[in-house]
Amino acid sequence: MAIPRFWREIRQRYKGIGSTCNACGKMYFPPRDICPECRRESFHNMEEQELEGRGEIVTYTKVHEPHPEFKDLSPYIMTIVEMEEGVRLTGHIVDVDFEDVERGMEVEASMRKLGEESEEGLIYYGYKFWPIDTHRPE
Ligand SMILES: [Zn+2]
Repeated sequence: MAIPRFWREIRQRYKGIGSTCNACGKMYFPPRDICPECRRESFHNMEEQELEGRGEIVTYTKVHEPHPEFKDLSPYIMTIVEMEEGVRLTGHIVDVDFEDVERGMEVEASMRKLGEESEEGLIYYGYKFWPIDTHRPE
């Protein structure tokens, strides 16, 4: 039996699995079945690839009035990170003071559970980043 699409997508996002076009080498995350640049050539030529989980900060901002889901994290730092594979992820950066965050800082990424929608049982996931030279938080 096939895994329902929703759960397959959760698994892919959780593990950071994207797809790479064998024709041009570009990686997509979330994964795509077709490369929009190569189209026809990319048919059956897309390969699953896992993000290594390392990247560089492109931009960041401090959030003082977060969404209610994140209130326990308030205030927190939101960042956009360009991964080594060229894809960009948005998430929280932890384990560093706002004053010490800078563009180009090397970070590692992992997926974390942000909250649960009790009625529908939906779980929200997001990315968490931390500077590469610090310990990995629990
Ligand atoms: Zn391509």
